[in-house]
Amino acid sequence: MLVSQLLNPTLREVPAEAEVISHQLMVRAGLIRKSASGLYTYLPLGLRVLKKIEAIVREEMDARGGQEILMPIMQPAELWKESGRWDVYGAELFRLNDRHNREFCLGPTHEEIITDLVRGEIRSYKQLPLLLYQIQNKYRDERRPRFGLMRGREFVMKDLYSFDRDEAGLHESYQKMYDAYCRIFSRCGLTYRPVEADPGAIGGTGGSHEFMVLADSGENSVVYCSGCDYAANTEKSECRPQAVEDISPEGEMKLVSTPGVKTIEDISEFLAVPKTTLVKSLLYQGDEKTFLVLVRGDRTLNEIKLNNALGGFVSLQLASPEVVEEIMGCGPGSVGPVKVPEGLMVVADAEVPLMKKAVCGANKAEHHYVDVVSGRDFRIDQVLDLRMVEPGEACLKCGAPLKEARGIEVGQVFKLGTKYSKALGANFLDEKGVEKSCVMGCYGVGVSRTIAAAIEQNHDEFGIVWPMPIAPYQCVIVTASTKDTLVVETADKLYQELKSLGVEVVLDDRDERAGVKFKDADLVGYPLRVTLGSKTLANGQVELRERKSGETQLVKAEDLAQQVKTMIEKALQC
Ligand code: ATP
Ligand code: MG
Repeated sequence: MLVSQLLNPTLREVPAEAEVISHQLMVRAGLIRKSASGLYTYLPLGLRVLKKIEAIVREEMDARGGQEILMPIMQPAELWKESGRWDVYGAELFRLNDRHNREFCLGPTHEEIITDLVRGEIRSYKQLPLLLYQIQNKYRDERRPRFGLMRGREFVMKDLYSFDRDEAGLHESYQKMYDAYCRIFSRCGLTYRPVEADPGAIGGTGGSHEFMVLADSGENSVVYCSGCDYAANTEKSECRPQAVEDISPEGEMKLVSTPGVKTIEDISEFLAVPKTTLVKSLLYQGDEKTFLVLVRGDRTLNEIKLNNALGGFVSLQLASPEVVEEIMGCGPGSVGPVKVPEGLMVVADAEVPLMKKAVCGANKAEHHYVDVVSGRDFRIDQVLDLRMVEPGEACLKCGAPLKEARGIEVGQVFKLGTKYSKALGANFLDEKGVEKSCVMGCYGVGVSRTIAAAIEQNHDEFGIVWPMPIAPYQCVIVTASTKDTLVVETADKLYQELKSLGVEVVLDDRDERAGVKFKDADLVGYPLRVTLGSKTLANGQVELRERKSGETQLVKAEDLAQQVKTMIEKALQC
Protein backbone atom coordinates (compact mmCIF):
# COMPACT_ATOMS: atom_id res chain seq x y z
CA MET A 1 0.00 0.00 0.00
CA LEU A 2 1.18 3.50 -0.80
CA VAL A 3 0.80 5.90 2.10
CA SER A 4 -0.18 8.64 -0.36
CA GLN A 5 -3.30 6.56 -1.15
CA LEU A 6 -3.99 5.29 2.36
CA LEU A 7 -6.83 6.71 4.44
CA ASN A 8 -4.65 7.29 7.47
CA PRO A 9 -5.45 10.72 8.86
CA THR A 10 -2.87 11.24 11.62
CA LEU A 11 -3.20 14.07 14.12
CA ARG A 12 -0.56 15.98 16.06
CA GLU A 13 -2.98 17.21 18.72
CA VAL A 14 -4.31 15.03 21.50
CA PRO A 15 -8.11 14.81 21.09
CA ALA A 16 -9.69 16.61 24.04
CA GLU A 17 -12.12 13.90 25.04
CA ALA A 18 -9.66 11.01 24.94
CA GLU A 19 -8.70 10.30 28.55
CA VAL A 20 -6.54 7.21 28.20
CA ILE A 21 -3.45 6.80 26.07
CA SER A 22 -4.82 4.01 23.87
CA HIS A 23 -7.83 6.12 22.93
CA GLN A 24 -5.62 9.15 22.22
CA LEU A 25 -3.22 7.13 20.12
CA MET A 26 -5.89 5.27 18.18
CA VAL A 27 -7.43 8.56 17.12
CA ARG A 28 -4.09 10.31 16.54
CA ALA A 29 -2.68 7.38 14.55
CA GLY A 30 -5.78 7.37 12.34
CA LEU A 31 -7.03 3.93 13.36
CA ILE A 32 -10.56 4.86 14.42
CA ARG A 33 -13.04 7.71 14.25
CA LYS A 34 -15.98 8.24 16.55
CA SER A 35 -19.55 8.16 15.21
CA ALA A 36 -21.32 8.66 18.53
CA SER A 37 -20.64 7.88 22.16
CA GLY A 38 -19.25 4.33 22.33
CA LEU A 39 -19.60 3.80 18.55
CA TYR A 40 -16.60 3.87 16.24
CA THR A 41 -15.65 3.42 12.61
CA TYR A 42 -12.50 1.43 12.02
CA LEU A 43 -10.30 3.07 9.42
CA PRO A 44 -8.13 0.80 7.25
CA LEU A 45 -5.22 0.42 9.68
CA GLY A 46 -7.50 -0.10 12.68
CA LEU A 47 -9.46 -2.73 10.81
CA ARG A 48 -6.28 -4.58 9.87
CA VAL A 49 -5.34 -4.89 13.54
CA LEU A 50 -8.84 -6.11 14.39
CA LYS A 51 -8.68 -8.71 11.62
CA LYS A 52 -5.30 -9.93 12.80
CA ILE A 53 -6.52 -10.50 16.32
CA GLU A 54 -9.62 -12.18 14.92
CA ALA A 55 -7.44 -14.48 12.85
CA ILE A 56 -5.38 -15.53 15.88
CA VAL A 57 -8.54 -16.12 17.89
CA ARG A 58 -10.10 -18.12 15.04
CA GLU A 59 -7.03 -20.32 14.66
CA GLU A 60 -6.93 -21.13 18.35
CA MET A 61 -10.66 -21.88 18.46
CA ASP A 62 -10.51 -24.08 15.35
CA ALA A 63 -7.46 -25.91 16.69
CA ARG A 64 -9.50 -27.02 19.69
CA GLY A 65 -12.51 -28.22 17.76
CA GLY A 66 -14.50 -25.00 17.83
CA GLN A 67 -16.95 -24.66 14.92
CA GLU A 68 -17.65 -21.17 13.68
CA ILE A 69 -21.25 -20.05 13.22
CA LEU A 70 -22.91 -16.65 13.00
CA MET A 71 -25.98 -15.87 15.07
CA PRO A 72 -28.35 -12.93 14.68
CA ILE A 73 -27.46 -9.77 16.54
CA MET A 74 -31.14 -9.01 17.00
CA GLN A 75 -32.70 -11.43 19.43
CA PRO A 76 -36.38 -12.05 20.29
CA ALA A 77 -37.44 -11.09 23.80
CA GLU A 78 -39.25 -14.42 24.28
CA LEU A 79 -35.95 -16.27 24.63
CA TRP A 80 -34.72 -13.79 27.21
CA LYS A 81 -37.97 -14.18 29.10
CA GLU A 82 -37.52 -17.96 29.03
CA SER A 83 -34.07 -17.68 30.60
CA GLY A 84 -35.35 -15.11 33.09
CA ARG A 85 -32.83 -12.47 32.00
CA TRP A 86 -35.22 -10.06 30.24
CA ASP A 87 -36.19 -8.51 33.56
CA VAL A 88 -32.86 -8.72 35.35
CA TYR A 89 -30.40 -7.57 32.68
CA GLY A 90 -31.45 -3.97 33.23
CA ALA A 91 -30.59 -0.81 31.39
CA GLU A 92 -27.52 -2.24 29.66
CA LEU A 93 -29.77 -4.19 27.28
CA PHE A 94 -30.65 -2.31 24.08
CA ARG A 95 -34.34 -3.08 23.55
CA LEU A 96 -36.37 -2.42 20.42
CA ASN A 97 -39.73 -3.23 18.85
CA ASP A 98 -40.56 -4.27 15.31
CA ARG A 99 -43.47 -2.90 13.24
CA HIS A 100 -45.80 -5.45 14.88
CA ASN A 101 -44.67 -4.23 18.25
CA ARG A 102 -42.87 -7.46 19.02
CA GLU A 103 -40.00 -7.00 21.44
CA PHE A 104 -36.35 -7.63 20.60
CA CYS A 105 -32.95 -6.79 21.97
CA LEU A 106 -29.50 -6.32 20.49
CA GLY A 107 -27.36 -9.17 21.77
CA PRO A 108 -25.00 -8.24 24.60
CA THR A 109 -24.13 -11.97 24.69
CA HIS A 110 -25.71 -15.04 23.10
CA GLU A 111 -26.45 -17.74 25.69
CA GLU A 112 -30.18 -17.68 24.90
CA ILE A 113 -29.87 -17.91 21.12
CA ILE A 114 -27.28 -20.68 21.21
CA THR A 115 -29.16 -22.72 23.78
CA ASP A 116 -32.28 -22.39 21.63
CA LEU A 117 -30.29 -23.61 18.62
CA VAL A 118 -28.85 -26.57 20.47
CA ARG A 119 -32.15 -27.66 22.01
CA GLY A 120 -33.52 -27.95 18.48
CA GLU A 121 -30.57 -29.83 17.00
CA ILE A 122 -29.02 -32.06 19.66
CA ARG A 123 -30.65 -35.35 20.61
CA SER A 124 -27.96 -37.75 21.72
CA TYR A 125 -24.83 -37.87 23.88
CA LYS A 126 -23.07 -38.98 20.70
CA GLN A 127 -23.30 -35.42 19.38
CA LEU A 128 -21.45 -34.04 22.41
CA PRO A 129 -19.17 -32.32 23.22
CA LEU A 130 -20.09 -29.45 20.94
CA LEU A 131 -18.08 -26.23 20.78
CA LEU A 132 -19.71 -23.44 18.77
CA TYR A 133 -18.39 -19.93 18.38
CA GLN A 134 -18.81 -16.69 16.50
CA ILE A 135 -16.92 -13.43 16.12
CA GLN A 136 -19.41 -10.62 16.00
CA ASN A 137 -20.56 -7.24 17.24
CA LYS A 138 -22.09 -7.10 20.69
CA TYR A 139 -24.26 -4.31 22.08
CA ARG A 140 -24.32 -3.03 25.63
CA ASP A 141 -25.73 0.31 26.68
CA GLU A 142 -22.88 0.88 29.11
CA ARG A 143 -23.47 3.41 31.86
CA ARG A 144 -20.22 5.15 30.94
CA PRO A 145 -19.00 4.32 27.45
CA ARG A 146 -15.45 5.60 27.45
CA PHE A 147 -11.82 5.10 26.66
CA GLY A 148 -12.49 4.50 22.96
CA LEU A 149 -12.60 0.81 22.10
CA MET A 150 -12.00 -0.12 25.71
CA ARG A 151 -15.62 0.32 26.75
CA GLY A 152 -17.80 0.74 23.70
CA ARG A 153 -21.54 0.34 23.31
CA GLU A 154 -20.86 -1.69 20.18
CA PHE A 155 -17.80 -3.93 20.30
CA VAL A 156 -16.41 -7.05 18.72
CA MET A 157 -16.42 -10.20 20.78
CA LYS A 158 -15.56 -13.79 20.11
CA ASP A 159 -17.99 -15.91 22.06
CA LEU A 160 -17.74 -19.68 22.24
CA TYR A 161 -20.25 -21.92 23.99
CA SER A 162 -19.49 -25.48 25.04
CA PHE A 163 -22.08 -28.22 25.49
CA ASP A 164 -21.07 -31.34 27.37
CA ARG A 165 -22.79 -34.36 28.81
CA ASP A 166 -21.47 -33.95 32.34
CA GLU A 167 -19.29 -31.92 34.70
CA ALA A 168 -16.17 -33.86 33.74
CA GLY A 169 -16.79 -32.94 30.10
CA LEU A 170 -17.32 -29.30 31.00
CA HIS A 171 -14.10 -29.33 32.95
CA GLU A 172 -12.26 -30.58 29.87
CA SER A 173 -13.85 -27.99 27.56
CA TYR A 174 -13.11 -25.25 30.09
CA GLN A 175 -9.48 -26.30 30.31
CA LYS A 176 -9.22 -26.33 26.52
CA MET A 177 -10.52 -22.79 26.32
CA TYR A 178 -8.36 -21.63 29.21
CA ASP A 179 -5.32 -22.95 27.35
CA ALA A 180 -6.55 -21.41 24.08
CA TYR A 181 -6.88 -18.02 25.76
CA CYS A 182 -3.35 -18.24 27.12
CA ARG A 183 -2.14 -18.98 23.58
CA ILE A 184 -4.21 -16.16 22.08
CA PHE A 185 -2.85 -13.46 24.35
CA SER A 186 0.71 -14.79 24.16
CA ARG A 187 0.48 -14.87 20.38
CA CYS A 188 -0.76 -11.28 20.38
CA GLY A 189 2.50 -10.42 22.16
CA LEU A 190 0.80 -9.30 25.37
CA THR A 191 1.74 -9.63 29.02
CA TYR A 192 -1.35 -11.00 30.75
CA ARG A 193 -2.48 -12.95 33.75
CA PRO A 194 -5.44 -15.30 34.19
CA VAL A 195 -7.21 -14.53 37.47
CA GLU A 196 -10.09 -16.05 39.41
CA ALA A 197 -13.19 -14.02 38.72
CA ASP A 198 -16.77 -13.37 39.66
CA PRO A 199 -19.27 -14.54 37.03
CA GLY A 200 -21.38 -11.34 37.17
CA ALA A 201 -24.51 -11.08 35.00
CA ILE A 202 -23.61 -14.14 32.92
CA GLY A 203 -24.19 -16.25 36.01
CA GLY A 204 -23.32 -19.85 36.66
CA THR A 205 -21.77 -21.21 39.79
CA GLY A 206 -19.04 -23.44 38.47
CA GLY A 207 -16.19 -20.95 38.46
CA SER A 208 -14.76 -18.33 36.18
CA HIS A 209 -11.46 -16.79 35.14
CA GLU A 210 -10.70 -13.44 33.60
CA PHE A 211 -7.70 -12.77 31.41
CA MET A 212 -6.11 -9.50 32.36
CA VAL A 213 -3.65 -7.57 30.25
CA LEU A 214 -1.44 -5.91 32.85
CA ALA A 215 -1.32 -2.13 32.47
CA ASP A 216 -1.33 0.70 35.01
CA SER A 217 -4.33 2.27 33.34
CA GLY A 218 -6.44 -0.90 33.75
CA GLU A 219 -9.90 -0.51 35.23
CA ASN A 220 -9.55 -3.72 37.22
CA SER A 221 -7.47 -4.41 40.24
CA VAL A 222 -6.00 -7.86 40.61
CA VAL A 223 -4.11 -9.49 43.44
CA TYR A 224 -1.52 -12.15 42.87
CA CYS A 225 0.62 -14.16 45.19
CA SER A 226 4.33 -13.53 45.45
CA GLY A 227 4.87 -17.17 46.43
CA CYS A 228 2.50 -19.34 44.37
CA ASP A 229 0.33 -19.14 41.25
CA TYR A 230 -2.75 -17.76 43.00
CA ALA A 231 -4.22 -14.68 41.28
CA ALA A 232 -7.70 -13.21 41.49
CA ASN A 233 -9.70 -10.17 40.60
CA THR A 234 -9.53 -8.09 43.80
CA GLU A 235 -13.32 -8.04 43.93
CA LYS A 236 -13.38 -11.83 43.91
CA SER A 237 -10.41 -12.65 46.14
CA GLU A 238 -11.31 -14.47 49.34
CA CYS A 239 -9.99 -13.04 52.57
CA ARG A 240 -8.59 -14.57 55.69
CA PRO A 241 -10.01 -12.82 58.78
CA GLN A 242 -7.38 -11.11 60.87
CA ALA A 243 -7.80 -10.18 64.51
CA VAL A 244 -6.10 -6.89 65.27
CA GLU A 245 -5.64 -6.69 69.00
CA ASP A 246 -6.58 -9.04 71.71
CA ILE A 247 -7.67 -6.58 74.36
CA SER A 248 -10.24 -7.87 76.76
CA PRO A 249 -13.01 -5.40 77.54
CA GLU A 250 -12.44 -3.39 80.66
CA GLY A 251 -16.04 -2.95 81.45
CA GLU A 252 -19.51 -2.29 80.26
CA MET A 253 -20.27 -0.66 76.96
CA LYS A 254 -20.66 3.12 77.36
CA LEU A 255 -22.62 5.72 75.42
CA VAL A 256 -20.54 8.77 74.51
CA SER A 257 -21.51 12.03 72.89
CA THR A 258 -19.84 12.58 69.50
CA PRO A 259 -21.00 15.97 68.22
CA GLY A 260 -20.48 16.62 64.52
CA VAL A 261 -19.06 13.14 63.91
CA LYS A 262 -20.28 11.56 60.68
CA THR A 263 -17.63 9.43 59.07
CA ILE A 264 -15.20 6.71 60.12
CA GLU A 265 -12.38 9.27 59.78
CA ASP A 266 -14.25 11.70 62.07
CA ILE A 267 -14.83 9.19 64.82
CA SER A 268 -11.31 7.83 64.68
CA GLU A 269 -9.98 11.35 65.08
CA PHE A 270 -12.52 12.44 67.68
CA LEU A 271 -11.93 9.49 70.02
CA ALA A 272 -8.27 9.11 69.06
CA VAL A 273 -8.70 5.41 68.31
CA PRO A 274 -7.43 3.44 65.31
CA LYS A 275 -9.92 2.59 62.59
CA THR A 276 -9.38 -1.08 63.37
CA THR A 277 -11.43 -0.65 66.54
CA LEU A 278 -14.42 0.83 64.73
CA VAL A 279 -17.40 -1.09 63.42
CA LYS A 280 -18.61 0.29 60.10
CA SER A 281 -22.38 -0.26 59.95
CA LEU A 282 -24.18 0.09 56.60
CA LEU A 283 -27.82 -0.42 55.77
CA TYR A 284 -28.42 -2.25 52.46
CA GLN A 285 -31.69 -2.82 50.68
CA GLY A 286 -32.90 -4.83 47.74
CA ASP A 287 -36.46 -5.61 46.79
CA GLU A 288 -38.17 -6.24 50.13
CA LYS A 289 -35.04 -7.19 52.06
CA THR A 290 -33.00 -4.97 54.36
CA PHE A 291 -29.69 -5.89 55.95
CA LEU A 292 -27.42 -4.18 58.42
CA VAL A 293 -23.94 -4.94 57.13
CA LEU A 294 -20.90 -4.72 59.40
CA VAL A 295 -17.22 -4.50 58.48
CA ARG A 296 -14.21 -3.32 60.45
CA GLY A 297 -13.62 0.43 60.17
CA ASP A 298 -10.35 0.12 58.25
CA ARG A 299 -11.81 -2.26 55.66
CA THR A 300 -13.84 -1.73 52.52
CA LEU A 301 -17.08 -3.59 52.02
CA ASN A 302 -17.05 -5.70 48.87
CA GLU A 303 -20.52 -5.21 47.36
CA ILE A 304 -20.00 -8.05 44.90
CA LYS A 305 -19.43 -10.53 47.71
CA LEU A 306 -22.41 -9.06 49.55
CA ASN A 307 -24.63 -9.47 46.52
CA ASN A 308 -23.40 -12.94 45.73
CA ALA A 309 -24.13 -14.01 49.29
CA LEU A 310 -27.45 -12.26 49.82
CA GLY A 311 -28.69 -10.36 46.80
CA GLY A 312 -29.84 -13.05 44.40
CA PHE A 313 -31.14 -11.47 41.23
CA VAL A 314 -32.00 -8.06 42.69
CA SER A 315 -28.85 -6.25 43.58
CA LEU A 316 -28.60 -4.73 47.03
CA GLN A 317 -28.07 -1.00 47.24
CA LEU A 318 -26.93 1.25 50.05
CA ALA A 319 -30.12 2.62 51.64
CA SER A 320 -30.82 6.34 51.23
CA PRO A 321 -30.46 8.64 54.29
CA GLU A 322 -34.28 8.89 54.40
CA VAL A 323 -34.67 5.12 54.61
CA VAL A 324 -31.91 4.91 57.23
CA GLU A 325 -33.72 7.53 59.29
CA GLU A 326 -36.98 5.63 58.98
CA ILE A 327 -35.58 2.24 59.95
CA MET A 328 -32.82 3.14 62.39
CA GLY A 329 -34.13 6.44 63.71
CA CYS A 330 -30.87 8.28 62.96
CA GLY A 331 -28.65 9.44 60.09
CA PRO A 332 -26.23 7.06 58.31
CA GLY A 333 -23.28 8.35 60.35
CA SER A 334 -24.78 7.16 63.65
CA VAL A 335 -25.93 3.69 62.65
CA GLY A 336 -24.68 0.75 64.71
CA PRO A 337 -25.54 -2.88 65.55
CA VAL A 338 -26.47 -2.42 69.21
CA LYS A 339 -30.20 -2.64 69.94
CA VAL A 340 -31.31 -2.78 66.32
CA PRO A 341 -34.99 -3.06 65.40
CA GLU A 342 -36.40 -6.54 65.87
CA GLY A 343 -36.26 -8.61 62.71
CA LEU A 344 -33.50 -6.56 61.05
CA MET A 345 -31.00 -9.05 59.69
CA VAL A 346 -27.43 -8.32 60.83
CA VAL A 347 -24.67 -9.71 58.64
CA ALA A 348 -21.01 -9.22 59.44
CA ASP A 349 -17.69 -9.72 57.81
CA ALA A 350 -15.70 -12.50 59.43
CA GLU A 351 -13.43 -10.04 61.23
CA VAL A 352 -16.23 -8.37 63.17
CA PRO A 353 -16.85 -11.26 65.60
CA LEU A 354 -13.17 -11.01 66.54
CA MET A 355 -13.53 -7.40 67.67
CA LYS A 356 -13.21 -6.62 71.35
CA LYS A 357 -13.55 -3.18 72.84
CA ALA A 358 -15.01 -1.78 69.67
CA VAL A 359 -16.64 1.53 68.85
CA CYS A 360 -19.88 1.76 66.91
CA GLY A 361 -22.75 4.10 66.15
CA ALA A 362 -25.49 4.23 68.79
CA ASN A 363 -28.49 4.68 66.47
CA LYS A 364 -28.89 8.07 68.10
CA ALA A 365 -27.78 11.31 66.48
CA GLU A 366 -24.24 12.34 67.46
CA HIS A 367 -23.70 9.40 69.81
CA HIS A 368 -21.51 6.32 69.74
CA TYR A 369 -20.94 3.34 71.99
CA VAL A 370 -17.44 2.49 73.16
CA ASP A 371 -16.08 -0.71 74.77
CA VAL A 372 -18.51 -2.72 72.71
CA VAL A 373 -17.96 -6.48 72.48
CA SER A 374 -19.24 -8.39 69.50
CA GLY A 375 -21.57 -11.15 70.66
CA ARG A 376 -21.98 -9.65 74.11
CA ASP A 377 -23.43 -6.31 73.16
CA PHE A 378 -24.88 -7.03 69.73
CA ARG A 379 -26.02 -10.05 67.77
CA ILE A 380 -24.83 -11.16 64.37
CA ASP A 381 -27.21 -13.31 62.33
CA GLN A 382 -24.77 -14.34 59.65
CA VAL A 383 -20.97 -14.20 59.39
CA LEU A 384 -19.60 -13.99 55.84
CA ASP A 385 -16.49 -12.98 53.93
CA LEU A 386 -17.61 -9.51 52.88
CA ARG A 387 -14.54 -7.32 52.63
CA MET A 388 -12.10 -6.30 49.92
CA VAL A 389 -8.74 -7.99 50.08
CA GLU A 390 -5.72 -5.71 50.57
CA PRO A 391 -2.20 -5.96 49.14
CA GLY A 392 0.27 -7.40 51.62
CA GLU A 393 -2.24 -9.83 53.11
CA ALA A 394 -1.33 -13.49 53.32
CA CYS A 395 -2.31 -15.67 50.35
CA LEU A 396 -5.03 -18.14 51.33
CA LYS A 397 -3.24 -20.89 49.43
CA CYS A 398 0.34 -20.53 50.64
CA GLY A 399 0.57 -17.67 53.12
CA ALA A 400 3.02 -15.53 51.13
CA PRO A 401 2.12 -11.83 50.81
CA LEU A 402 -0.28 -10.80 48.04
CA LYS A 403 0.68 -8.11 45.56
CA GLU A 404 -1.57 -5.83 43.58
CA ALA A 405 -1.57 -4.93 39.89
CA ARG A 406 -3.89 -3.15 37.49
CA GLY A 407 -5.38 -5.06 34.59
CA ILE A 408 -7.59 -4.73 31.54
CA GLU A 409 -10.07 -7.58 31.17
CA VAL A 410 -9.65 -8.90 27.64
CA GLY A 411 -11.39 -12.23 28.11
CA GLN A 412 -13.44 -14.26 30.50
CA VAL A 413 -14.35 -17.93 30.71
CA PHE A 414 -17.30 -19.29 32.68
CA LYS A 415 -18.52 -22.68 33.80
CA LEU A 416 -22.24 -22.15 33.38
CA GLY A 417 -23.43 -25.62 34.34
CA THR A 418 -27.10 -26.14 33.52
CA LYS A 419 -28.40 -22.62 34.21
CA TYR A 420 -29.44 -21.99 30.59
CA SER A 421 -29.95 -25.55 29.40
CA LYS A 422 -32.44 -26.18 32.21
CA ALA A 423 -34.26 -22.88 31.69
CA LEU A 424 -34.60 -23.47 27.95
CA GLY A 425 -34.71 -27.26 27.92
CA ALA A 426 -31.51 -28.08 26.01
CA ASN A 427 -31.47 -31.83 26.72
CA PHE A 428 -29.96 -35.00 25.29
CA LEU A 429 -30.40 -38.71 25.83
CA ASP A 430 -27.50 -40.53 27.49
CA GLU A 431 -26.41 -44.14 26.78
CA LYS A 432 -29.25 -45.48 28.88
CA GLY A 433 -31.84 -43.34 27.12
CA VAL A 434 -32.17 -41.04 30.14
CA GLU A 435 -32.87 -37.39 29.31
CA LYS A 436 -30.30 -34.99 30.75
CA SER A 437 -29.54 -31.27 30.53
CA CYS A 438 -26.46 -30.20 28.60
CA VAL A 439 -23.68 -28.90 30.84
CA MET A 440 -22.55 -25.59 29.42
CA GLY A 441 -19.63 -23.22 29.46
CA CYS A 442 -19.15 -19.86 27.75
CA TYR A 443 -15.97 -18.09 26.77
CA GLY A 444 -15.58 -14.50 25.56
CA VAL A 445 -12.67 -12.58 24.09
CA GLY A 446 -13.03 -8.82 23.78
CA VAL A 447 -11.43 -8.63 20.34
CA SER A 448 -11.77 -4.87 19.95
CA ARG A 449 -10.82 -4.19 23.56
CA THR A 450 -7.67 -6.25 23.01
CA ILE A 451 -6.50 -3.62 20.51
CA ALA A 452 -6.82 -0.90 23.14
CA ALA A 453 -5.20 -3.10 25.78
CA ALA A 454 -2.28 -3.85 23.47
CA ILE A 455 -1.66 -0.13 23.02
CA GLU A 456 -1.93 0.60 26.76
CA GLN A 457 0.82 -1.93 27.25
CA ASN A 458 2.91 -1.06 24.19
CA HIS A 459 3.53 2.62 23.55
CA ASP A 460 6.03 5.37 24.22
CA GLU A 461 5.98 9.15 24.02
CA PHE A 462 6.11 9.02 20.21
CA GLY A 463 3.25 6.63 19.62
CA ILE A 464 2.21 3.02 19.40
CA VAL A 465 4.78 0.22 19.54
CA TRP A 466 2.90 -2.70 18.01
CA PRO A 467 3.85 -6.24 18.86
CA MET A 468 4.71 -7.73 15.47
CA PRO A 469 1.83 -10.27 15.37
CA ILE A 470 -0.90 -7.61 15.49
CA ALA A 471 0.76 -4.65 13.75
CA PRO A 472 -1.38 -3.15 10.96
CA TYR A 473 1.64 -3.47 8.66
CA GLN A 474 4.96 -5.00 9.62
CA CYS A 475 7.19 -2.53 7.84
CA VAL A 476 7.18 1.00 6.44
CA ILE A 477 9.54 2.30 3.78
CA VAL A 478 10.29 5.99 4.06
CA THR A 479 11.83 7.95 1.23
CA ALA A 480 13.79 10.81 2.78
CA SER A 481 13.80 12.58 -0.56
CA THR A 482 11.16 12.44 -3.26
CA LYS A 483 13.33 14.36 -5.73
CA ASP A 484 16.19 11.87 -5.93
CA THR A 485 15.30 9.34 -8.63
CA LEU A 486 17.69 6.72 -7.24
CA VAL A 487 15.89 6.95 -3.88
CA VAL A 488 12.45 6.79 -5.48
CA GLU A 489 13.29 3.93 -7.79
CA THR A 490 15.11 1.86 -5.15
CA ALA A 491 12.25 2.41 -2.70
CA ASP A 492 9.83 1.10 -5.26
CA LYS A 493 12.06 -1.89 -5.99
CA LEU A 494 12.41 -2.76 -2.30
CA TYR A 495 8.70 -2.31 -1.81
CA GLN A 496 7.95 -4.83 -4.57
CA GLU A 497 10.60 -7.19 -3.28
CA LEU A 498 9.24 -7.13 0.27
CA LYS A 499 5.71 -7.69 -0.98
CA SER A 500 6.81 -10.66 -3.03
CA LEU A 501 8.38 -12.16 0.11
CA GLY A 502 5.00 -11.84 1.84
CA VAL A 503 6.01 -8.91 4.05
CA GLU A 504 3.15 -6.56 4.95
CA VAL A 505 4.66 -3.27 3.88
CA VAL A 506 3.64 0.29 3.14
CA LEU A 507 5.66 2.77 1.15
CA ASP A 508 5.52 6.34 2.41
CA ASP A 509 5.79 8.04 -0.96
CA ARG A 510 4.18 11.29 0.16
CA ASP A 511 5.77 14.54 -0.86
CA GLU A 512 6.49 15.46 2.76
CA ARG A 513 9.59 16.27 4.75
CA ALA A 514 11.40 13.21 6.13
CA GLY A 515 10.70 14.44 9.67
CA VAL A 516 6.95 14.36 9.08
CA LYS A 517 7.12 10.84 7.71
CA PHE A 518 9.26 9.66 10.65
CA LYS A 519 6.80 11.14 13.12
CA ASP A 520 3.88 9.40 11.46
CA ALA A 521 5.76 6.10 11.27
CA ASP A 522 6.48 6.30 15.01
CA LEU A 523 2.92 7.34 15.80
CA VAL A 524 1.35 4.51 13.82
CA GLY A 525 3.95 2.18 15.29
CA TYR A 526 5.11 0.01 12.39
CA PRO A 527 7.58 -2.44 13.98
CA LEU A 528 10.22 -1.92 11.25
CA ARG A 529 11.17 1.19 9.32
CA VAL A 530 13.37 1.27 6.25
CA THR A 531 14.73 4.68 5.32
CA LEU A 532 16.25 5.59 1.98
CA GLY A 533 18.34 8.74 1.89
CA SER A 534 20.48 10.08 -0.94
CA LYS A 535 23.74 9.88 1.02
CA THR A 536 23.55 6.33 2.30
CA LEU A 537 22.04 5.04 -0.90
CA ALA A 538 25.00 6.46 -2.83
CA ASN A 539 26.94 3.76 -0.92
CA GLY A 540 24.28 1.18 -1.74
CA GLN A 541 22.94 1.22 1.81
CA VAL A 542 19.59 1.80 3.49
CA GLU A 543 18.78 2.30 7.16
CA LEU A 544 16.76 -0.34 9.02
CA ARG A 545 15.26 0.69 12.36
CA GLU A 546 13.34 -1.26 14.96
CA ARG A 547 10.50 0.73 16.47
CA LYS A 548 10.64 -0.99 19.83
CA SER A 549 14.34 -0.69 20.64
CA GLY A 550 15.06 2.30 18.41
CA GLU A 551 18.12 0.41 17.16
CA THR A 552 19.22 1.29 13.65
CA GLN A 553 21.61 -0.42 11.30
CA LEU A 554 22.83 0.18 7.79
CA VAL A 555 22.03 -2.67 5.46
CA LYS A 556 23.02 -3.27 1.88
CA ALA A 557 20.00 -2.51 -0.29
CA GLU A 558 20.19 -5.89 -1.96
CA ASP A 559 20.12 -7.71 1.42
CA LEU A 560 17.36 -5.61 2.90
CA ALA A 561 14.29 -7.62 1.91
CA GLN A 562 15.68 -10.90 3.19
CA GLN A 563 16.85 -9.34 6.43
CA VAL A 564 13.43 -7.77 7.07
CA LYS A 565 11.77 -11.07 6.33
CA THR A 566 14.05 -12.89 8.81
CA MET A 567 13.43 -10.31 11.54
CA ILE A 568 9.67 -10.63 11.10
CA GLU A 569 9.79 -14.41 11.19
CA LYS A 570 11.78 -14.26 14.39
CA ALA A 571 9.35 -11.82 15.97
CA LEU A 572 6.38 -13.98 15.03
CA GLN A 573 7.81 -17.12 16.63
CA CYS A 574 6.29 -17.64 20.03
P1 ATP B 1 -16.64 -5.43 31.97
O1 ATP B 1 -16.61 -5.97 33.37
O2 ATP B 1 -15.37 -4.81 31.54
O3 ATP B 1 -17.85 -4.58 31.70
P2 ATP B 1 -17.82 -7.90 31.28
O4 ATP B 1 -17.26 -8.77 32.34
O5 ATP B 1 -19.18 -7.39 31.42
O6 ATP B 1 -16.83 -6.69 31.02
P3 ATP B 1 -18.01 -10.19 29.52
O7 ATP B 1 -19.46 -10.40 29.55
O8 ATP B 1 -17.13 -11.07 30.31
O9 ATP B 1 -17.70 -8.65 29.88
O10 ATP B 1 -17.57 -10.13 27.99
C1 ATP B 1 -16.43 -10.79 27.45
C2 ATP B 1 -15.37 -9.79 27.03
O11 ATP B 1 -15.89 -8.77 26.19
C3 ATP B 1 -14.76 -9.04 28.20
O12 ATP B 1 -13.76 -9.81 28.82
C4 ATP B 1 -14.23 -7.79 27.54
O13 ATP B 1 -12.93 -8.03 27.02
C5 ATP B 1 -15.17 -7.56 26.39
N1 ATP B 1 -16.11 -6.45 26.69
C6 ATP B 1 -17.13 -6.45 27.56
N2 ATP B 1 -17.77 -5.27 27.55
C7 ATP B 1 -17.13 -4.50 26.64
C8 ATP B 1 -17.32 -3.17 26.16
N3 ATP B 1 -18.31 -2.40 26.61
N4 ATP B 1 -16.47 -2.70 25.21
C9 ATP B 1 -15.48 -3.47 24.73
N5 ATP B 1 -15.25 -4.73 25.14
C10 ATP B 1 -16.06 -5.25 26.08
MG1 MG C 1 -16.26 -10.31 32.13
